[in-house]
Amino acid sequence: MNIIWARSLVSLVLLAVLCVAVGVFVNTKAALSLAVIALLAQGIFSTFHKQRLWRLLDAPVYGEVPSAPGIWGEIYYRLHKLAKRWHAQVRQVEQQHSRFIQAIQASPNGVAMLDDHDQIEWCNAISEQHFGLDAKRDLRQHITHLVRHPDFVRYLNSHQYDEMLIMRGMGDKRQNVLSVQVFPYGENRKLVLSQDITELERTDAMRRDFVANVSHELKTPLTVLAGFLETMRDIPLDDEERARYLDLMMQQAQRMQHIVSDLLVLATLEGDNKPPSNQMVDMRAVVRHLREDAESLSAGRHRISFDADEALTVTGVETEILSAFGNLVTNAIRYTPDGGSINVSWRAQGGQATFIVADSGLGIPAADIPRLTERFYRVDRSRSRDTGGTGLGLAIVKHVLQRHDAQLEVKSEEGRGSTFTVRFPAARTAMLHTTAA
Ligand code: ADP
Repeated sequence: MNIIWARSLVSLVLLAVLCVAVGVFVNTKAALSLAVIALLAQGIFSTFHKQRLWRLLDAPVYGEVPSAPGIWGEIYYRLHKLAKRWHAQVRQVEQQHSRFIQAIQASPNGVAMLDDHDQIEWCNAISEQHFGLDAKRDLRQHITHLVRHPDFVRYLNSHQYDEMLIMRGMGDKRQNVLSVQVFPYGENRKLVLSQDITELERTDAMRRDFVANVSHELKTPLTVLAGFLETMRDIPLDDEERARYLDLMMQQAQRMQHIVSDLLVLATLEGDNKPPSNQMVDMRAVVRHLREDAESLSAGRHRISFDADEALTVTGVETEILSAFGNLVTNAIRYTPDGGSINVSWRAQGGQATFIVADSGLGIPAADIPRLTERFYRVDRSRSRDTGGTGLGLAIVKHVLQRHDAQLEVKSEEGRGSTFTVRFPAARTAMLHTTAA
């Protein structure tokens, strides 16, 4: 027997005893009246609380426990406890749900959920971006009404989702590439995962180009070398011819050596850690080397001037700085006809160490300037080759400067000359305190 039955029974027994007592000591009429009044009061009392309970169930108030005597107080208290527990559980589920949504929103990939009719149930911000969707507006829309790319429609309808789909021509500028895969789950529902692989494709294409370029660059001197070797093997040559052939073969071998050594420099630059920010470069030694190398390469064919602030320096790796600056000075000499001038300056401008190489040489067409630092990019192939170029010099410059947080600026006018300016950030610029002589 539960507490409700027990309490009701006790109340009834008490009422019965009271009525009997009134019947015995007063009269039967009074006893009957008492019984009727008591039952009526009980009825009104319980109707009032039933009504109250009804209202409470319709619009629960979680913070308050309605007060009531007896069993009704107990019912309200228990109901309140139950509601509190449910409320806490709902809050927990809501929090879990919102954390789950946040996690999917934070995903670098697009996530879209489709119902059993391929209608959008939910999608994250990246998916909106990838497919040009609007999570609120497009809710419950059939996905192929919004993503009309024929490859996607075919893929979705094929029900063969083992392989991912590569979608080209996506995004605002129709230049993006997406990899998309559908994962069926639940009752005919689908998860559409998407990833922007534009950059990946670009670097892959660059890698393929690079391998093709290296092969091409090495193939030419190798073919020439093989040709000479064949000639020397098959045709008897006199001493003079043999010496000339050997010279030409030597030139080709050196060309390959230069290419391979520049490629190794590039590979090292790419693999190395960032240069230290507390190691000062001995710029006096760098400038001295640059001047000596420039004079030896020009051999008096150009007017060369150096204007260097001896106290100005930067932090980084000396060999890298020498290699980058050396490439710029060497290029100025190689691409400036005899009689031209080359001015090199190393000065601080607005707190930034600035290295400028200005020449009065051939100049570069404006359209070529943005591509100069690409590997093997040359404006004039034959001139680059004639002067011993590998097409990798400015690529090395770009890498060294990137590693030192420096910027390269190229200004040029065809037939009038070029100016290459390197700017180091103030954070890498330093002034040495020279003691007065
Ligand atoms: P290369 O070994 O061919 O010189 P670089 O990467 O050093 O390769 O330079 C790329 C191209 O930029 C060169 O082939 C040349 O056409 C052009 N170039 C670089 N510096 C100059 C310059 N000072 N004047 C004119 N053209 C230049």
